[in-house]
Amino acid sequence: MLGQMMTAPLTISSLVDHAARYHSATQVYSVNTGGGVEETTWGQVAANSRALGDALTKLGLEPQARCATIAWNNRRHLEIYFGVSGAGFVCHTINPRLFPEQLVYIINHAEDKVLFIDKTFVPLLAAIRDKCPGLEHIVLMDDRDDQAAAAIDGLKSYDDLLTGGSSDFEWPELDENTASSLCYTSGTTGNPKGVLYSHRSTVLHSLMACVPDSLDLSATDTVLPVVPMFHVNAWGTPYACALVGAQMVLPGPGLDGASLVGLIDTYKVNCALGVPTIWLGLLNEAEKLGSSLDSLKRTVVGGSACPPSMIHAFREKYGVETVHAWGMTEMSPLGSSNKPLAKHKNMAEADQHKIRENQGRPPWGVELKILGDEGQTLPHDGEAQGELHVRGHWILDSYLGKTPDETLTNGWFDTGDVASIDVDGYLYIKDRSKDIIKSGGEWISSVDLENIAIAHPALADAAVIGARHEKWDERPVLVAVAADGATPSEAEVLGIFDGKIAKWQVPDKVVFTDVLPRNATGKVLKRDLRDQFGDVLIG
Ligand code: ADP
Repeated sequence: MLGQMMTAPLTISSLVDHAARYHSATQVYSVNTGGGVEETTWGQVAANSRALGDALTKLGLEPQARCATIAWNNRRHLEIYFGVSGAGFVCHTINPRLFPEQLVYIINHAEDKVLFIDKTFVPLLAAIRDKCPGLEHIVLMDDRDDQAAAAIDGLKSYDDLLTGGSSDFEWPELDENTASSLCYTSGTTGNPKGVLYSHRSTVLHSLMACVPDSLDLSATDTVLPVVPMFHVNAWGTPYACALVGAQMVLPGPGLDGASLVGLIDTYKVNCALGVPTIWLGLLNEAEKLGSSLDSLKRTVVGGSACPPSMIHAFREKYGVETVHAWGMTEMSPLGSSNKPLAKHKNMAEADQHKIRENQGRPPWGVELKILGDEGQTLPHDGEAQGELHVRGHWILDSYLGKTPDETLTNGWFDTGDVASIDVDGYLYIKDRSKDIIKSGGEWISSVDLENIAIAHPALADAAVIGARHEKWDERPVLVAVAADGATPSEAEVLGIFDGKIAKWQVPDKVVFTDVLPRNATGKVLKRDLRDQFGDVLIG
Protein backbone atom coordinates (compact mmCIF):
# COMPACT_ATOMS: atom_id res chain seq x y z
CA MET A 1 0.00 0.00 0.00
CA LEU A 2 1.36 3.41 -0.93
CA GLY A 3 1.20 6.14 1.71
CA GLN A 4 -1.99 8.15 1.95
CA MET A 5 -3.53 11.10 3.79
CA MET A 6 -6.38 11.30 6.28
CA THR A 7 -9.77 12.23 4.92
CA ALA A 8 -12.70 13.86 6.62
CA PRO A 9 -15.88 15.33 5.16
CA LEU A 10 -15.78 19.08 4.53
CA THR A 11 -18.54 20.25 6.84
CA ILE A 12 -19.83 23.60 8.05
CA SER A 13 -19.63 22.46 11.69
CA SER A 14 -15.88 22.04 11.25
CA LEU A 15 -15.62 25.79 10.54
CA VAL A 16 -17.25 26.92 13.77
CA ASP A 17 -15.42 24.18 15.70
CA HIS A 18 -12.12 25.56 14.43
CA ALA A 19 -13.15 29.09 15.45
CA ALA A 20 -14.08 27.81 18.92
CA ARG A 21 -10.88 25.79 19.32
CA TYR A 22 -8.34 28.44 18.26
CA HIS A 23 -10.18 31.77 18.30
CA SER A 24 -12.51 31.23 21.21
CA ALA A 25 -12.09 34.71 22.72
CA THR A 26 -12.27 36.57 19.40
CA GLN A 27 -15.20 38.99 19.50
CA VAL A 28 -18.37 39.14 17.50
CA TYR A 29 -20.24 42.44 17.95
CA SER A 30 -23.90 42.36 17.10
CA VAL A 31 -26.45 45.16 16.80
CA ASN A 32 -29.84 43.92 17.98
CA THR A 33 -33.22 44.97 16.62
CA GLY A 34 -33.56 47.66 19.30
CA GLY A 35 -30.23 49.22 18.26
CA GLY A 36 -28.16 48.11 21.30
CA VAL A 37 -24.87 46.28 20.77
CA GLU A 38 -24.17 42.83 22.22
CA GLU A 39 -20.66 41.49 22.49
CA THR A 40 -20.10 37.78 22.13
CA THR A 41 -17.21 35.53 21.07
CA TRP A 42 -16.61 32.73 18.60
CA GLY A 43 -16.47 30.38 21.60
CA GLN A 44 -19.97 31.42 22.69
CA VAL A 45 -21.34 31.37 19.13
CA ALA A 46 -20.07 27.78 18.76
CA ALA A 47 -21.52 26.68 22.12
CA ASN A 48 -24.89 28.23 21.29
CA SER A 49 -24.94 26.70 17.83
CA ARG A 50 -24.39 23.24 19.32
CA ALA A 51 -27.18 23.83 21.84
CA LEU A 52 -29.44 24.96 19.00
CA GLY A 53 -28.52 21.89 16.94
CA ASP A 54 -29.46 19.73 19.92
CA ALA A 55 -32.74 21.55 20.51
CA LEU A 56 -33.75 21.25 16.84
CA THR A 57 -32.90 17.54 16.85
CA LYS A 58 -35.09 17.10 19.92
CA LEU A 59 -37.98 18.71 18.04
CA GLY A 60 -37.93 15.53 15.98
CA LEU A 61 -37.18 17.18 12.61
CA GLU A 62 -36.22 14.88 9.71
CA PRO A 63 -32.65 15.16 8.40
CA GLN A 64 -32.46 17.95 5.77
CA ALA A 65 -35.58 19.64 7.20
CA ARG A 66 -35.62 23.26 6.13
CA CYS A 67 -35.23 25.79 8.94
CA ALA A 68 -35.80 29.29 7.61
CA THR A 69 -34.77 32.72 8.84
CA ILE A 70 -36.22 36.18 8.26
CA ALA A 71 -33.63 38.22 10.07
CA TRP A 72 -30.98 40.94 10.06
CA ASN A 73 -27.29 40.33 10.47
CA ASN A 74 -26.95 39.54 14.17
CA ARG A 75 -25.33 36.98 16.45
CA ARG A 76 -28.39 34.74 16.78
CA HIS A 77 -28.54 34.54 12.99
CA LEU A 78 -24.87 33.54 13.03
CA GLU A 79 -25.57 30.78 15.57
CA ILE A 80 -28.48 29.57 13.41
CA TYR A 81 -26.19 29.38 10.33
CA PHE A 82 -23.93 26.89 12.14
CA GLY A 83 -26.46 25.18 14.43
CA VAL A 84 -28.97 24.35 11.70
CA SER A 85 -26.49 23.15 9.07
CA GLY A 86 -24.20 21.49 11.61
CA ALA A 87 -27.07 19.37 12.92
CA GLY A 88 -27.90 18.16 9.41
CA PHE A 89 -30.77 20.53 8.62
CA VAL A 90 -30.93 23.14 5.85
CA CYS A 91 -30.60 26.82 6.75
CA HIS A 92 -32.95 28.73 4.44
CA THR A 93 -32.39 32.48 4.55
CA ILE A 94 -35.34 34.52 3.28
CA ASN A 95 -35.20 38.09 1.99
CA PRO A 96 -37.80 40.11 3.93
CA ARG A 97 -37.95 42.72 1.19
CA LEU A 98 -39.77 40.34 -1.16
CA PHE A 99 -43.49 40.84 -1.78
CA PRO A 100 -45.72 38.92 0.66
CA GLU A 101 -46.91 36.60 -2.16
CA GLN A 102 -43.29 35.74 -2.94
CA LEU A 103 -42.59 35.04 0.74
CA VAL A 104 -45.56 32.66 0.86
CA TYR A 105 -44.43 30.99 -2.36
CA ILE A 106 -40.87 30.51 -1.07
CA ILE A 107 -41.83 29.20 2.39
CA ASN A 108 -44.22 26.67 0.85
CA HIS A 109 -41.97 25.70 -2.06
CA ALA A 110 -39.03 25.08 0.29
CA GLU A 111 -41.35 23.19 2.67
CA ASP A 112 -39.94 25.13 5.62
CA LYS A 113 -40.72 23.49 8.96
CA VAL A 114 -39.11 25.97 11.32
CA LEU A 115 -38.94 29.73 10.94
CA PHE A 116 -36.64 31.95 13.02
CA ILE A 117 -37.71 35.55 12.94
CA ASP A 118 -36.47 38.92 14.18
CA LYS A 119 -38.97 41.11 16.03
CA THR A 120 -39.01 43.62 13.13
CA PHE A 121 -40.63 41.05 10.86
CA VAL A 122 -43.35 39.74 13.19
CA PRO A 123 -46.11 41.86 11.52
CA LEU A 124 -44.90 40.66 8.10
CA LEU A 125 -45.24 37.03 9.16
CA ALA A 126 -48.51 37.54 11.05
CA ALA A 127 -50.08 38.73 7.77
CA ILE A 128 -49.11 35.56 5.86
CA ARG A 129 -49.02 32.93 8.62
CA ASP A 130 -52.32 31.32 7.54
CA LYS A 131 -51.02 30.80 4.02
CA CYS A 132 -48.02 28.77 5.23
CA PRO A 133 -49.62 25.69 6.83
CA GLY A 134 -46.40 23.63 6.67
CA LEU A 135 -44.62 25.80 9.26
CA GLU A 136 -44.49 23.82 12.51
CA HIS A 137 -42.35 26.04 14.76
CA ILE A 138 -41.92 29.81 14.73
CA VAL A 139 -39.11 31.12 16.90
CA LEU A 140 -38.62 34.76 17.92
CA MET A 141 -34.92 35.70 17.81
CA ASP A 142 -35.25 38.14 20.68
CA ASP A 143 -36.15 38.42 24.34
CA ARG A 144 -39.68 37.19 25.12
CA ASP A 145 -42.21 39.72 23.87
CA ASP A 146 -45.94 39.80 24.72
CA GLN A 147 -46.94 41.80 21.67
CA ALA A 148 -45.18 39.38 19.33
CA ALA A 149 -46.64 36.39 21.19
CA ALA A 150 -50.13 37.84 20.76
CA ALA A 151 -49.56 38.30 17.00
CA ILE A 152 -48.39 34.72 16.31
CA ASP A 153 -49.93 31.62 17.85
CA GLY A 154 -47.48 29.29 19.58
CA LEU A 155 -44.49 31.63 19.12
CA LYS A 156 -41.39 30.13 20.75
CA SER A 157 -38.47 32.03 22.24
CA TYR A 158 -35.00 31.48 20.86
CA ASP A 159 -33.40 31.71 24.29
CA ASP A 160 -35.84 29.14 25.73
CA LEU A 161 -35.11 26.83 22.82
CA LEU A 162 -31.36 27.09 23.55
CA THR A 163 -31.93 26.31 27.21
CA GLY A 164 -33.51 23.02 26.13
CA GLY A 165 -30.36 22.05 24.18
CA SER A 166 -26.87 21.13 25.34
CA SER A 167 -23.66 22.79 24.23
CA ASP A 168 -22.04 19.31 24.53
CA PHE A 169 -24.19 18.14 21.61
CA GLU A 170 -22.13 16.04 19.18
CA TRP A 171 -22.60 17.08 15.56
CA PRO A 172 -23.89 14.19 13.44
CA GLU A 173 -21.45 12.74 10.91
CA LEU A 174 -22.57 14.05 7.56
CA ASP A 175 -21.62 13.26 4.00
CA GLU A 176 -19.98 16.45 2.68
CA ASN A 177 -22.42 16.51 -0.23
CA THR A 178 -25.38 16.87 2.13
CA ALA A 179 -27.40 20.03 1.50
CA SER A 180 -26.57 22.71 4.06
CA SER A 181 -28.30 25.93 3.08
CA LEU A 182 -30.80 27.40 0.68
CA CYS A 183 -31.24 30.79 -1.00
CA TYR A 184 -33.79 31.85 -3.58
CA THR A 185 -32.96 34.10 -6.52
CA SER A 186 -34.87 37.36 -6.36
CA GLY A 187 -37.11 36.33 -9.25
CA THR A 188 -37.42 39.54 -11.24
CA THR A 189 -39.03 37.37 -13.92
CA GLY A 190 -41.24 34.49 -12.86
CA ASN A 191 -41.15 32.75 -9.49
CA PRO A 192 -37.95 32.79 -7.41
CA LYS A 193 -35.81 29.66 -7.84
CA GLY A 194 -34.16 27.76 -5.00
CA VAL A 195 -30.38 27.29 -4.95
CA LEU A 196 -29.28 24.58 -2.55
CA TYR A 197 -25.67 24.71 -1.30
CA SER A 198 -23.82 21.71 0.13
CA HIS A 199 -21.38 21.46 3.05
CA ARG A 200 -18.59 20.74 0.58
CA SER A 201 -19.39 23.63 -1.76
CA THR A 202 -19.63 26.00 1.20
CA VAL A 203 -16.28 24.97 2.71
CA LEU A 204 -14.48 25.18 -0.63
CA HIS A 205 -16.06 28.57 -1.31
CA SER A 206 -15.00 29.78 2.14
CA LEU A 207 -11.41 28.66 1.61
CA MET A 208 -11.14 30.53 -1.64
CA ALA A 209 -12.92 33.60 -0.24
CA CYS A 210 -10.04 33.96 2.24
CA VAL A 211 -7.09 33.84 -0.15
CA PRO A 212 -5.23 37.11 -0.77
CA ASP A 213 -6.39 37.42 -4.38
CA SER A 214 -10.00 37.12 -3.20
CA LEU A 215 -11.25 38.86 -0.04
CA ASP A 216 -7.93 38.33 1.75
CA LEU A 217 -9.40 37.45 5.17
CA SER A 218 -7.35 36.54 8.22
CA ALA A 219 -7.38 36.42 12.02
CA THR A 220 -6.15 40.03 12.09
CA ASP A 221 -9.30 41.35 10.38
CA THR A 222 -12.44 42.96 11.78
CA VAL A 223 -15.07 42.30 9.15
CA LEU A 224 -18.35 44.16 8.69
CA PRO A 225 -20.71 42.33 6.33
CA VAL A 226 -23.20 45.02 5.40
CA VAL A 227 -24.47 42.66 2.73
CA PRO A 228 -27.38 40.92 4.44
CA MET A 229 -27.21 37.35 5.67
CA PHE A 230 -30.33 36.81 3.53
CA HIS A 231 -28.44 37.86 0.38
CA VAL A 232 -26.42 34.83 -0.72
CA ASN A 233 -25.29 34.09 2.84
CA ALA A 234 -23.73 37.54 3.23
CA TRP A 235 -21.43 36.46 0.39
CA GLY A 236 -20.17 33.61 2.55
CA THR A 237 -18.53 35.88 5.15
CA PRO A 238 -19.94 34.10 8.25
CA TYR A 239 -18.32 30.84 7.14
CA ALA A 240 -15.10 32.47 5.92
CA CYS A 241 -14.68 34.50 9.13
CA ALA A 242 -15.08 31.32 11.21
CA LEU A 243 -12.52 29.58 9.03
CA VAL A 244 -9.84 32.19 9.76
CA GLY A 245 -11.08 33.38 13.16
CA ALA A 246 -11.71 36.97 12.09
CA GLN A 247 -13.62 39.39 14.34
CA MET A 248 -17.07 40.21 13.05
CA VAL A 249 -19.31 43.24 13.39
CA LEU A 250 -22.93 42.39 12.56
CA PRO A 251 -24.82 45.62 11.82
CA GLY A 252 -28.43 44.57 12.57
CA PRO A 253 -31.14 46.72 11.00
CA GLY A 254 -29.28 50.06 10.74
CA LEU A 255 -27.74 50.09 7.27
CA ASP A 256 -27.82 53.86 6.82
CA GLY A 257 -24.57 55.74 6.27
CA ALA A 258 -24.43 57.27 9.78
CA SER A 259 -24.90 53.92 11.56
CA LEU A 260 -22.23 52.29 9.40
CA VAL A 261 -19.71 55.09 9.92
CA GLY A 262 -20.39 54.75 13.68
CA LEU A 263 -19.74 50.99 13.63
CA ILE A 264 -16.60 51.31 11.52
CA ASP A 265 -15.13 53.97 13.79
CA THR A 266 -16.15 52.35 17.09
CA TYR A 267 -15.07 48.77 16.35
CA LYS A 268 -12.12 49.65 14.08
CA VAL A 269 -13.53 47.73 11.15
CA ASN A 270 -10.87 47.21 8.48
CA CYS A 271 -12.87 45.23 5.92
CA ALA A 272 -16.51 45.90 4.94
CA LEU A 273 -18.64 44.30 2.25
CA GLY A 274 -21.76 45.54 0.48
CA VAL A 275 -23.57 46.63 -2.68
CA PRO A 276 -22.75 49.98 -4.34
CA THR A 277 -25.90 51.81 -3.14
CA ILE A 278 -24.93 51.17 0.49
CA TRP A 279 -21.51 52.70 -0.06
CA LEU A 280 -23.00 55.79 -1.72
CA GLY A 281 -24.82 56.42 1.57
CA LEU A 282 -21.69 55.74 3.58
CA LEU A 283 -19.46 58.05 1.54
CA ASN A 284 -21.97 60.90 1.77
CA GLU A 285 -22.29 60.45 5.52
CA ALA A 286 -18.55 60.13 6.18
CA GLU A 287 -18.09 63.44 4.39
CA LYS A 288 -20.87 65.09 6.42
CA LEU A 289 -19.63 63.71 9.75
CA GLY A 290 -16.03 64.49 8.91
CA SER A 291 -14.99 60.89 9.57
CA SER A 292 -11.83 59.82 7.81
CA LEU A 293 -12.73 56.11 8.22
CA ASP A 294 -9.25 55.61 9.65
CA SER A 295 -9.49 51.89 10.37
CA LEU A 296 -11.05 50.91 7.04
CA LYS A 297 -8.58 49.39 4.60
CA ARG A 298 -10.76 47.36 2.22
CA THR A 299 -14.31 47.43 0.88
CA VAL A 300 -15.63 44.56 -1.15
CA VAL A 301 -18.22 45.85 -3.58
CA GLY A 302 -20.43 43.68 -5.76
CA GLY A 303 -23.99 42.67 -6.50
CA SER A 304 -24.13 45.23 -9.29
CA ALA A 305 -21.42 47.14 -11.12
CA CYS A 306 -19.31 49.32 -8.86
CA PRO A 307 -18.98 52.77 -10.48
CA PRO A 308 -15.29 53.61 -11.03
CA SER A 309 -15.94 56.99 -9.38
CA MET A 310 -16.66 55.12 -6.13
CA ILE A 311 -13.45 53.11 -6.35
CA HIS A 312 -11.53 56.35 -6.80
CA ALA A 313 -13.37 58.18 -4.01
CA PHE A 314 -12.58 55.40 -1.55
CA ARG A 315 -8.96 55.30 -2.58
CA GLU A 316 -8.19 58.98 -2.91
CA LYS A 317 -10.20 60.39 -0.01
CA TYR A 318 -9.95 57.56 2.49
CA GLY A 319 -7.02 55.38 1.45
CA VAL A 320 -9.42 52.44 1.14
CA GLU A 321 -8.82 49.76 -1.44
CA THR A 322 -11.97 48.58 -3.22
CA VAL A 323 -12.17 44.96 -4.25
CA HIS A 324 -14.70 44.90 -7.08
CA ALA A 325 -16.27 41.44 -7.05
CA TRP A 326 -18.78 39.70 -9.27
CA GLY A 327 -21.01 36.75 -8.57
CA MET A 328 -24.54 35.53 -8.18
CA THR A 329 -26.83 33.43 -6.00
CA GLU A 330 -26.19 30.44 -8.25
CA MET A 331 -22.42 30.80 -7.59
CA SER A 332 -22.44 30.95 -3.76
CA PRO A 333 -21.76 33.85 -4.88
CA LEU A 334 -18.03 34.43 -5.59
CA GLY A 335 -17.15 34.32 -9.30
CA SER A 336 -14.32 36.85 -9.54
CA SER A 337 -12.61 39.63 -7.62
CA ASN A 338 -10.36 42.42 -8.72
CA LYS A 339 -6.79 42.15 -7.44
CA PRO A 340 -3.68 43.22 -9.36
CA LEU A 341 -1.03 40.99 -10.91
CA ALA A 342 2.69 41.42 -10.27
CA LYS A 343 3.17 43.07 -13.66
CA HIS A 344 0.71 45.86 -12.77
CA LYS A 345 2.74 47.12 -9.83
CA ASN A 346 5.12 49.22 -11.89
CA MET A 347 2.50 50.64 -14.19
CA ALA A 348 1.57 54.32 -14.22
CA GLU A 349 -1.05 55.15 -11.58
CA ALA A 350 -3.69 55.98 -14.23
CA ASP A 351 -3.25 52.57 -15.86
CA GLN A 352 -3.52 50.84 -12.50
CA HIS A 353 -6.76 52.72 -11.87
CA LYS A 354 -8.16 51.40 -15.13
CA ILE A 355 -7.36 47.81 -14.15
CA ARG A 356 -9.05 48.18 -10.76
CA GLU A 357 -12.38 49.04 -12.38
CA ASN A 358 -13.33 45.69 -13.92
CA GLN A 359 -14.86 42.71 -12.14
CA GLY A 360 -11.54 40.93 -11.64
CA ARG A 361 -10.25 37.38 -12.10
CA PRO A 362 -11.85 34.07 -11.09
CA PRO A 363 -10.30 32.20 -8.17
CA TRP A 364 -9.28 28.55 -8.36
CA GLY A 365 -12.50 26.57 -8.51
CA VAL A 366 -14.33 28.75 -11.05
CA GLU A 367 -14.00 28.51 -14.84
CA LEU A 368 -15.42 31.14 -17.19
CA LYS A 369 -16.20 31.08 -20.90
CA ILE A 370 -18.02 33.40 -23.28
CA LEU A 371 -20.18 32.20 -26.15
CA GLY A 372 -21.23 33.99 -29.34
CA ASP A 373 -24.64 34.05 -31.04
CA GLU A 374 -24.12 30.63 -32.63
CA GLY A 375 -22.96 29.07 -29.38
CA GLN A 376 -19.28 29.28 -30.49
CA THR A 377 -16.60 29.81 -27.84
CA LEU A 378 -15.17 33.33 -28.12
CA PRO A 379 -11.54 34.29 -27.48
CA HIS A 380 -10.37 35.82 -24.22
CA ASP A 381 -8.87 38.88 -25.90
CA GLY A 382 -10.61 41.64 -23.96
CA GLU A 383 -12.58 42.56 -27.10
CA ALA A 384 -15.03 39.78 -27.95
CA GLN A 385 -18.32 40.02 -26.03
CA GLY A 386 -20.58 37.07 -25.42
CA GLU A 387 -22.89 35.21 -23.06
CA LEU A 388 -20.96 34.34 -19.92
CA HIS A 389 -21.06 30.68 -18.83
CA VAL A 390 -19.47 29.25 -15.68
CA ARG A 391 -18.72 25.98 -13.97
CA GLY A 392 -16.95 25.01 -10.78
CA HIS A 393 -17.01 23.62 -7.27
CA TRP A 394 -19.55 26.07 -5.81
CA ILE A 395 -21.72 26.59 -8.85
CA LEU A 396 -25.29 25.37 -9.13
CA ASP A 397 -25.93 21.99 -10.76
CA SER A 398 -29.73 22.12 -10.57
CA TYR A 399 -32.32 24.40 -9.01
CA LEU A 400 -34.35 22.99 -6.14
CA GLY A 401 -36.84 20.55 -7.65
CA LYS A 402 -35.24 20.65 -11.13
CA THR A 403 -32.73 18.42 -12.92
CA PRO A 404 -29.28 19.45 -14.23
CA ASP A 405 -30.69 19.07 -17.77
CA GLU A 406 -33.22 21.78 -17.01
CA THR A 407 -30.59 24.04 -15.42
CA LEU A 408 -27.34 23.72 -17.40
CA THR A 409 -26.18 24.00 -21.01
CA ASN A 410 -23.65 21.28 -21.83
CA GLY A 411 -22.51 21.14 -18.22
CA TRP A 412 -22.10 24.93 -17.89
CA PHE A 413 -24.35 27.43 -16.14
CA ASP A 414 -25.50 30.37 -18.27
CA THR A 415 -25.18 33.45 -16.03
CA GLY A 416 -27.45 35.69 -18.13
CA ASP A 417 -24.63 38.25 -18.23
CA VAL A 418 -22.82 39.56 -21.31
CA ALA A 419 -19.08 39.92 -20.81
CA SER A 420 -15.62 40.01 -22.29
CA ILE A 421 -12.56 38.40 -20.71
CA ASP A 422 -8.97 39.49 -21.33
CA VAL A 423 -5.85 37.35 -21.68
CA ASP A 424 -5.15 37.53 -17.94
CA GLY A 425 -8.67 36.35 -17.10
CA TYR A 426 -9.99 39.78 -16.04
CA LEU A 427 -13.74 39.87 -16.50
CA TYR A 428 -15.62 42.86 -17.89
CA ILE A 429 -19.35 42.54 -17.25
CA LYS A 430 -21.05 44.58 -19.97
CA ASP A 431 -24.63 44.04 -18.92
CA ARG A 432 -27.37 41.56 -18.15
CA SER A 433 -28.18 40.08 -21.56
CA LYS A 434 -31.76 41.31 -21.18
CA ASP A 435 -30.61 44.88 -20.43
CA ILE A 436 -27.93 45.38 -23.08
CA ILE A 437 -29.02 47.92 -25.68
CA LYS A 438 -29.16 46.60 -29.24
CA SER A 439 -28.80 49.62 -31.47
CA GLY A 440 -28.77 48.86 -35.22
CA GLY A 441 -26.86 45.59 -34.79
CA GLU A 442 -24.34 47.09 -32.33
CA TRP A 443 -24.43 46.49 -28.60
CA ILE A 444 -24.24 49.32 -26.09
CA SER A 445 -23.49 48.55 -22.46
CA SER A 446 -25.95 50.31 -20.18
CA VAL A 447 -23.47 49.78 -17.33
CA ASP A 448 -20.72 51.78 -19.10
CA LEU A 449 -23.10 54.70 -19.61
CA GLU A 450 -24.35 54.55 -16.01
CA ASN A 451 -20.80 54.56 -14.66
CA ILE A 452 -20.08 57.79 -16.52
CA ALA A 453 -23.37 59.44 -15.52
CA ILE A 454 -23.16 58.56 -11.83
CA ALA A 455 -19.73 60.19 -11.55
CA HIS A 456 -21.29 63.61 -12.20
CA PRO A 457 -21.93 65.62 -9.04
CA ALA A 458 -25.29 66.94 -10.31
CA LEU A 459 -26.72 63.40 -10.43
CA ALA A 460 -27.56 61.28 -7.39
CA ASP A 461 -28.49 58.16 -9.33
CA ALA A 462 -28.80 57.04 -12.94
CA ALA A 463 -29.91 54.08 -15.02
CA VAL A 464 -29.82 53.55 -18.77
CA ILE A 465 -32.42 51.56 -20.68
CA GLY A 466 -32.91 50.59 -24.31
CA ALA A 467 -35.93 52.54 -25.56
CA ARG A 468 -37.72 51.46 -28.73
CA HIS A 469 -36.58 53.32 -31.85
CA GLU A 470 -38.07 53.26 -35.34
CA LYS A 471 -34.76 53.22 -37.20
CA TRP A 472 -32.26 51.61 -34.80
CA ASP A 473 -34.59 49.16 -32.93
CA GLU A 474 -33.31 50.46 -29.61
CA ARG A 475 -31.47 53.54 -28.43
CA PRO A 476 -30.16 54.38 -24.96
CA VAL A 477 -32.22 56.65 -22.72
CA LEU A 478 -30.80 57.91 -19.44
CA VAL A 479 -33.16 57.92 -16.47
CA ALA A 480 -31.59 60.34 -14.00
CA VAL A 481 -32.18 61.42 -10.43
CA ALA A 482 -30.81 64.91 -9.74
CA ALA A 483 -28.62 65.40 -6.65
CA ASP A 484 -30.13 67.32 -3.72
CA GLY A 485 -30.46 70.98 -4.73
CA ALA A 486 -29.18 70.44 -8.31
CA THR A 487 -31.30 71.14 -11.42
CA PRO A 488 -29.17 70.04 -14.37
CA SER A 489 -30.62 70.49 -17.88
CA GLU A 490 -30.82 67.64 -20.39
CA ALA A 491 -28.03 69.21 -22.45
CA GLU A 492 -25.76 69.48 -19.40
CA VAL A 493 -26.31 65.85 -18.53
CA LEU A 494 -25.64 64.68 -22.07
CA GLY A 495 -22.48 66.78 -22.04
CA ILE A 496 -21.10 64.40 -19.38
CA PHE A 497 -20.51 61.82 -22.09
CA ASP A 498 -18.42 64.10 -24.36
CA GLY A 499 -15.12 62.48 -25.18
CA LYS A 500 -15.76 59.56 -22.81
CA ILE A 501 -17.45 57.19 -25.27
CA ALA A 502 -18.09 56.92 -29.00
CA LYS A 503 -20.66 59.51 -30.16
CA TRP A 504 -23.12 56.88 -31.39
CA GLN A 505 -23.35 55.45 -27.87
CA VAL A 506 -24.42 58.72 -26.22
CA PRO A 507 -28.02 58.44 -24.95
CA ASP A 508 -30.70 59.98 -27.19
CA LYS A 509 -32.58 61.45 -24.28
CA VAL A 510 -32.56 62.13 -20.56
CA VAL A 511 -35.68 61.73 -18.44
CA PHE A 512 -35.64 62.86 -14.83
CA THR A 513 -37.32 60.95 -12.05
CA ASP A 514 -37.41 61.18 -8.25
CA VAL A 515 -36.19 57.72 -7.38
CA LEU A 516 -35.18 54.58 -9.29
CA PRO A 517 -37.24 51.42 -8.65
CA ARG A 518 -35.13 48.68 -7.03
CA ASN A 519 -35.69 45.00 -6.28
CA ALA A 520 -35.30 43.23 -2.97
CA THR A 521 -31.51 43.07 -3.31
CA GLY A 522 -31.10 46.72 -4.28
CA LYS A 523 -30.84 46.26 -8.06
CA VAL A 524 -32.50 48.74 -10.38
CA LEU A 525 -35.65 47.24 -11.93
CA LYS A 526 -34.88 48.00 -15.56
CA ARG A 527 -38.02 46.20 -16.68
CA ASP A 528 -40.16 48.70 -14.76
CA LEU A 529 -38.18 51.58 -16.26
CA ARG A 530 -38.68 50.12 -19.75
CA ASP A 531 -42.45 49.85 -19.08
CA GLN A 532 -42.46 53.48 -18.02
CA PHE A 533 -40.03 55.07 -20.47
CA GLY A 534 -39.58 52.49 -23.24
CA ASP A 535 -41.61 54.51 -25.76
CA VAL A 536 -40.23 58.01 -25.14
CA LEU A 537 -38.39 58.01 -28.48
CA ILE A 538 -41.41 56.97 -30.54
CA GLY A 539 -43.89 59.38 -32.18
P1 ADP B 1 -30.50 38.05 -8.61
O1 ADP B 1 -29.97 37.38 -9.82
O2 ADP B 1 -31.38 37.24 -7.79
O3 ADP B 1 -30.87 39.50 -8.81
P2 ADP B 1 -27.87 37.97 -7.61
O4 ADP B 1 -27.40 38.71 -6.43
O5 ADP B 1 -27.61 36.54 -7.72
O6 ADP B 1 -29.35 38.23 -7.56
O7 ADP B 1 -27.44 38.75 -8.91
C1 ADP B 1 -26.47 38.30 -9.79
C2 ADP B 1 -26.27 39.28 -10.92
O8 ADP B 1 -25.91 40.57 -10.42
C3 ADP B 1 -25.15 38.91 -11.83
O9 ADP B 1 -25.52 37.95 -12.78
C4 ADP B 1 -24.80 40.25 -12.47
O10 ADP B 1 -25.67 40.58 -13.52
C5 ADP B 1 -25.05 41.23 -11.35
N1 ADP B 1 -23.77 41.54 -10.70
C6 ADP B 1 -23.29 41.05 -9.55
N2 ADP B 1 -22.09 41.60 -9.27
C7 ADP B 1 -21.80 42.45 -10.27
C8 ADP B 1 -20.69 43.33 -10.58
N3 ADP B 1 -19.64 43.45 -9.78
N4 ADP B 1 -20.75 44.02 -11.72
C9 ADP B 1 -21.80 43.93 -12.55
N5 ADP B 1 -22.86 43.14 -12.32
C10 ADP B 1 -22.87 42.42 -11.19
